[in-house]
Amino acid sequence: MSRPAFPATLLALLGLAQAAPAPTIDTSQMLRMTPPRTQLTLEYIRQHYDAKATSIQITPLMIVIHWTATGSLKSTLNTFKPEVLSGRTDIQKGGKLNTGAHYVVDRDGTIYQLMNETDMARHVIGLNRFAIGIENVGNNDLTPAQLKANTQLVNYLYEKYGVQYLIGHHEYGQFRGTPLWEEKDPSYFTVKSDPGAAFMAQLRATLQSGGVTFRALPK
Ligand SMILES: [Zn+2]
Repeated sequence: MSRPAFPATLLALLGLAQAAPAPTIDTSQMLRMTPPRTQLTLEYIRQHYDAKATSIQITPLMIVIHWTATGSLKSTLNTFKPEVLSGRTDIQKGGKLNTGAHYVVDRDGTIYQLMNETDMARHVIGLNRFAIGIENVGNNDLTPAQLKANTQLVNYLYEKYGVQYLIGHHEYGQFRGTPLWEEKDPSYFTVKSDPGAAFMAQLRATLQSGGVTFRALPK
């Protein structure tokens, strides 16, 4: 006899939700926090957030979901490997540190960790010192396997850090003017479309059905 299945929302309401199993995470592609990468990260923090900063550590209060827009897993990993930014005229005034992400989710749902969650990655203007970044290989065609992997990974990080906000990169501007927004240059801002309202709605609904909810975004 198997146990009867109850809706996850009911279990969550009753406080009976099981801790979600930790997702399988491939750490074979971790970037090395070399002295130059650490120094460039610190320079970014000093330029944008706090001229007196001495640490690259962040406080994860938020998860930001992205898509890569182009390419394959391999090209994504190659994009994040260098320490110095190149080929991004849109954000080059923001400093030399390359863009990055803590996690990359491949088309088949494989989760790769690239960075320690509490080391700052350059992935979301204004909010990098509070935000863990998850990149998805693809664009407006993210797969069911990626949705499942994002659900597991967000659930895991939510439980690990008590993360308060889950946002799509396209929603980040809603935090301008809030205490979490640290960018000193009001003209340093880019309009984003990733990963789009449809994917975020699916992800939020899936998480909510497992009892994982986040604070509402600022208006
Ligand atoms: Zn993005």
